[in-house]
Amino acid sequence: MNSMTIQTAPTCDRPETLDDVALKAHIRGLIDRWGDKLVILAHHYQRKEIVPFGNFIGDSYYLSKMAAQQEKAEHIVFCGVHFMAESARILCRPEQRVYLPNLRAGCPMADMADDAQVDDAWEWLGQHIDTKKIIPVSYMNSAASLKAFCGANGGIICTSSNAEKAFQWAFARGEKVFFFPDEHLGTNTANRLGIPRDERVLFDPMHPPTDPRPFIKARVILWKGFCHVHTNFTVGHIEQARQNYPGIKIVVHPECKEDVVDRADAVGSTAFIAKYVAAQPAGSIIAIGTEINLTSRLADEYPDKTIFELSGQNCPLCVNMFRTTLGDLAECIENLGHKNEIQVPPAIARDARLALERMLELS
Ligand code: SF4
Repeated sequence: MNSMTIQTAPTCDRPETLDDVALKAHIRGLIDRWGDKLVILAHHYQRKEIVPFGNFIGDSYYLSKMAAQQEKAEHIVFCGVHFMAESARILCRPEQRVYLPNLRAGCPMADMADDAQVDDAWEWLGQHIDTKKIIPVSYMNSAASLKAFCGANGGIICTSSNAEKAFQWAFARGEKVFFFPDEHLGTNTANRLGIPRDERVLFDPMHPPTDPRPFIKARVILWKGFCHVHTNFTVGHIEQARQNYPGIKIVVHPECKEDVVDRADAVGSTAFIAKYVAAQPAGSIIAIGTEINLTSRLADEYPDKTIFELSGQNCPLCVNMFRTTLGDLAECIENLGHKNEIQVPPAIARDARLALERMLELS
């Protein structure tokens, strides 16, 4: 079969009443039938029952790299949220097809910056600062059109795995970084790079600024956006955990607020958190400040360690990651070529790819 004649799924008659065990066997059978023509990418925050179906399991950086490297796959199913599947669509070959099993799985943080807001901010900044001196850096958690904005304006994409490198890349090419949409990842990255507080400024798209002076002075312009899952962790949670479990290790994600990150023992992406937990000796007590599905999977994986989520009674669940069910995955694979495909307009894909490839070249 040549690359222009992609095989699509035949009609499938699955009984609607399969229980989870039968549904998993059904999905496994479908996957086996497709062989190496199908690749499944699964983010760490997916439901426990979804993760084992991933050919590749990881954070958005790793999964975007895997999407770009698939030679044989005709169909790539991304068990994650919309911006991740969009990035895979942009990075893989044109004839490959990319799917999101549940099309309602978005990212509220990514939605906190839209095209019009970023265009308006850029225009306002341009009235006061030469925008050639400003390098836009977008978090992976953003729409393809904003990744394209970065590509077209000499900018780059980053994930929580490589934000410091992306900032350094930007500072090698300009005087200021314009980072969106996560204020907290931006703040924590600026802290790690030793950028003084008075050289940062916050752009609030809901209340656009009128005084340009702080923006003229700043080296880092942050966007007022956040992840509702990670900003739920507090210093109080850390103090409580340390009081209850002397010697406890606390590891958090850099989307957490600055004061939480500052008091944790370690901070990093989901891939970093998984490695950190693996590296702790048997008998360790570890509290994790990230999405509950990863924490609970790590707790199952390392029964010789006591692992729990940092916030105690609150459940840090990303409802969007949780949307993808076994039924969604089954239906998606049953209908490859017919449903749930992710498309990105070619002009947007071209510029977004530029920014994503700059990121992939960082390491
Ligand atoms: S955990 Fe937060 S940043 Fe990640 S997909 Fe969910 S809402 Fe978005």
